[in-house]
Amino acid sequence: MKNHRTEVGIALAMLSGLYGASALAQNTPEPVEGHLIAAKNAAGFDFTGTLARLCIAPPMVTAVRDAAPGPAPARDTWFTEPAKVFDNLYFVGSKIHNAWALTTTEGIIVIDTLFTYNSEEEIIGGLKKLGLDPAAVKYVIISHAHGDHVGGAKLMQDRFGSHIVMGAPDWDSIEKSVNGYPQGKPKRDIVADDGQKITLGDTAVTMVTTPGHTPGTLSMLFTVKDNGKPIQVAYSGGTAFNFPSTVPNFETYIKSQSKMAAAAAGANATILMSNHTEFDSAIPKIKMLALRKPGEPHTFDIGKEAVARYFTVTGECAQAARVKLMQTGK
Ligand SMILES: [Zn+2]
Repeated sequence: MKNHRTEVGIALAMLSGLYGASALAQNTPEPVEGHLIAAKNAAGFDFTGTLARLCIAPPMVTAVRDAAPGPAPARDTWFTEPAKVFDNLYFVGSKIHNAWALTTTEGIIVIDTLFTYNSEEEIIGGLKKLGLDPAAVKYVIISHAHGDHVGGAKLMQDRFGSHIVMGAPDWDSIEKSVNGYPQGKPKRDIVADDGQKITLGDTAVTMVTTPGHTPGTLSMLFTVKDNGKPIQVAYSGGTAFNFPSTVPNFETYIKSQSKMAAAAAGANATILMSNHTEFDSAIPKIKMLALRKPGEPHTFDIGKEAVARYFTVTGECAQAARVKLMQTGK
């Protein structure tokens, strides 16, 4: 994370290089280059982290890994304070990963749970610091079963009896995993379907299945309130290309980006959230909230058009990767 700004700088420089080259080539860019330019234009200054991760030398992956979690990194690399962000939405994530508490009239819905090593301090500790009761967490929705989001699911299930919601293929991957859960696996609980609503009191979170990053990746739609004003959120559940690099896998991913773009537009979402702070700039947006003056828009409220551009970035970077794979025959 220390070199994040430098990386983004290099990424943008590389993309402007490409743009310059294509302009010289009379607007007939190579297909890969055309997708990269479309992604860069859509990213603007809103999604530089997403652009840098997906469009600049994404990894070649040969197989799904079932690695054991590594040792916990130093606390100062991940710890950050929790924060109230909307009337009914609280940040309980780390510097790198988002976790959210959505409060309702009947308890709390938590979205994503970080790693096993930091979920207790950030989520349970964070809720307490914010004056919220962790025992009131009735549902925990996991966007996908990678160690940086599912790490606290077992803890919430065991300690508070929270219901865990996940896509079927990701429940399967947990069951099949040999090395991934040395401290125990969450027990299979609620299997999310496309369009299903997880309802608690006055609040509902709508599931949108978006396979690609993992086969069971869940994206979501829900409403937050900003001083009483309802605002719609599109939560993108899986982003990076660390799935096996095959043309069909990229096609699945691309379809899901279009599907979620349409769902976000249909819901009039003007906020884009992700499960990595790198992709939705959650940390600076939370910091900038302190500078917000009365009447100014909320720092997370970027508008419908910007939300649409996010899915253009992810879709076009995936198109570039797909075309490259087709060209190289890999
Ligand atoms: Zn992941």
